[in-house]
Amino acid sequence: MSQTPFNIQRAAVIGAGTMGRGIVMCLVNAGVPVQWVDNNPQMLEQALASVADTCAHNVRQGRIDQAEADVRVARVTTAANYAAIADVDLVIEAVYENLELKQRIFRELDALLKPGAILASNTSALDIDAIAAVTGRPGQVLGLHFFSPAHIMKLLEVVRCAKTAPSVLEAALALGKRMGKVSVVAGNCEGFIGNRMLNTYVLEARKMLLEGAYPHQVDAALQGFGFAMGPFRMYDVVGVDLGWRARELAGVGQDAPEVQVDNRLCELGRFGQKSGNGYYHYEAGSRQAEHDVEVDALVLEVSEGLGFQRRDISPEEILERCLLALVNEGAKILEEGIAGSAHDIDLVYLNGYGFPADKGGPMAWADQQGLADIHQRLLALETRQGDHWNPARRIAELAAAGKGFAGR
Ligand code: NAD
Repeated sequence: MSQTPFNIQRAAVIGAGTMGRGIVMCLVNAGVPVQWVDNNPQMLEQALASVADTCAHNVRQGRIDQAEADVRVARVTTAANYAAIADVDLVIEAVYENLELKQRIFRELDALLKPGAILASNTSALDIDAIAAVTGRPGQVLGLHFFSPAHIMKLLEVVRCAKTAPSVLEAALALGKRMGKVSVVAGNCEGFIGNRMLNTYVLEARKMLLEGAYPHQVDAALQGFGFAMGPFRMYDVVGVDLGWRARELAGVGQDAPEVQVDNRLCELGRFGQKSGNGYYHYEAGSRQAEHDVEVDALVLEVSEGLGFQRRDISPEEILERCLLALVNEGAKILEEGIAGSAHDIDLVYLNGYGFPADKGGPMAWADQQGLADIHQRLLALETRQGDHWNPARRIAELAAAGKGFAGR
């Protein structure tokens, strides 16, 4: 057991949606009693039923017996307000992705919770320092970024804010271990480690749609490399509409050429698996992604409408651009101290993003290629495609020293 003064024995979760449900499962499976708050009583009721269902499913699968299932279900209680959770050791907030809403909740929690309580947010993209700043205990605020479905996915990004105390990080890592997670400490920046790198990778994938590729070709190349799924199949699983709605709400980014295919799909109600159509077609009740010629026609129309002269894009080019985008951003993340090591970045990609295990992660893959080679390939892309391929300083330095990210 950890010697940290912040030993987490009891927790509360705010929000009973997709993420809240998975997070509650993680906690009760690890033996942590949870008090659950949601301002929508119906949502809370459904969420409680979903915890019971998941436990019953685990009994049917022979993973736990009925007595253990009963104990786990009994660990969850609902709470009507924040005063009722004043004694918990940790609160994990998983409400809508909105900074003002989260700040309001943290302000209220800070006023009501015991001084030793830790406050965590499951935000995927918001500035957690800006959330910590509204509390009188910024040293006890951090991000606990779970991946969906939270009780299945192994990865947990533990986001260290500017003022997070080392003992608070230590307590979060100890909890991660109890929950059976692969925990990786990340600095606070947009997208943390995983999504920040993902953004550069999907940007290349989207650019290639405009330049001449089709979604199934991009996915096939990356799946051929060993990714669990390519970016467009991933969008269909996550929901193509999430980014579309977020851009609409923020009032920025909706005009970028790279998101025009997504926008058109959403305008047609093609949100992904959940609506039966997205980048692919899905038969009723099936998750099998089927190539849809209507999507190819839409991609062609959008790219020609934007004035692109389409050309054939080879699987090799698809891999080169998507993988090198990950590696270059990973190197910047190392330079900035957002990740503690290249190995941590690899853990994020292996456990949260379906990177092929036999390749060891993007940074290990780059080391296998040789950083001198990666550096040359980035320079070649920079010549052909522009400044955003400028090699990270870390890559230039390591290549010159004949070293890899792993220091050898
Ligand atoms: P969701 O829409 O499924 O659930 C949000 C819940 O918050 C709802 O049940 C809602 O009733 C509740 N809520 C809203 N305002 C509240 C308030 N004032 N007090 C109490 N409850 C309130 O959302 P989600 O997908 O679970 O996402 C939650 C958070 O997790 C977001 O910050 C999101 O960015 C982040 N996240 C989501 C994913 C994902 O794949 N869905 C992955 C990682 C992180």
